[in-house]
Amino acid sequence: MDLVTGGAGFIGSHLVDALVLSGKKVRIVDNFSSGRLEFLSHHDKNDNVEIINCDLLDLEQLKEAMKGISHVHHLAANPDIRLGTEITDTDLKQGTLATYNVLESMRINDVKNISFASSSAIYGEADEMPTTEKYGPNLPISLYGASKLASEALISAWIGTFGGIGYIHRFANIVGPRGTHGVIFDFIHKLKNNPNRLEVLGDGFQEKSYMSVRDCVDSMLHLIENANESVNLYNLGTGDTCSVRRIAEIVVEESGLENVSVEYTGGKRGWAGDVPKTFLNVDKLLSTDFKPTRMSEETIRDTVMQLIYEIGLK
Ligand code: NAD
Repeated sequence: MDLVTGGAGFIGSHLVDALVLSGKKVRIVDNFSSGRLEFLSHHDKNDNVEIINCDLLDLEQLKEAMKGISHVHHLAANPDIRLGTEITDTDLKQGTLATYNVLESMRINDVKNISFASSSAIYGEADEMPTTEKYGPNLPISLYGASKLASEALISAWIGTFGGIGYIHRFANIVGPRGTHGVIFDFIHKLKNNPNRLEVLGDGFQEKSYMSVRDCVDSMLHLIENANESVNLYNLGTGDTCSVRRIAEIVVEESGLENVSVEYTGGKRGWAGDVPKTFLNVDKLLSTDFKPTRMSEETIRDTVMQLIYEIGLK
């Protein structure tokens, strides 16, 4: 049986769907802080999905939940980089300590395989673009990025010390249906509240890669089948980028609203810890014969159309 931490979340719930489709039994551990039961409501016990309401910081409950598991997909974390600027121990607890608890409960239950949802945020303001997995030193500029890098180090150290196999996935920005945060989600909500004005944080020239959640989940599972190191480290993205200005244009176009005033708050970053440009080199992923089905702009437009419907903008 596979265990998905954060399985009620945006990416986690899509991963659960894919695992079930491949015939796997899945146990979900989630504290529902940002996850939603409705994302799993199409599964029932016949689907072999078991849901445990558990906080990863509760080590005793987590050790119980780990019994009988063969592979852990560790996705639970605070997803909001901005929160770390207000409550500064958020990422230390929900990121680094949570990962420690996952690894310790795996060790006690002799579970050997872990996949981890890391992030391009670990690269900080890299001066190599597009950035390869070999880039270093990695100097994150957000507390979120620091917790992801610390978690990667813990996984590598755990495998070096106790054995096992790890898959570290450094995600680009992941978008798609059930999204509950991020730039597209924010823009649609802003237009719902005020159809005449769209405020963009920063100067809009921030540029990042956007991967569809379906491609993200498919590439995670593809790597488990096709990567053969003890620690398998991969950037997951599309190999192109899109600017925040272009996303604002697409959201306005797809909303059908007219005379929207797009206003920029200015400055090169949206918030403290925002990296103005991230661009992941995905040659290593492509070399395993995985090809994303959508590039950034296409997946942004798909997501805008889906979220406009989900959020009820029109
Ligand atoms: P999400 O908020 O939808 O999912 C996180 C899930 O973890 C939620 O269901 C939440 O309830 C759960 N959770 C949080 N803290 C928990 C705890 N202490 N105990 C148990 N459950 C807890 O976010 P997402 O976008 O689906 O992100 C999934 C993972 O991918 C995260 O680790 C995130 O950092 C990483 N990631 C996401 C993106 C992206 O663009 N969405 C990019 C890079 C990395």
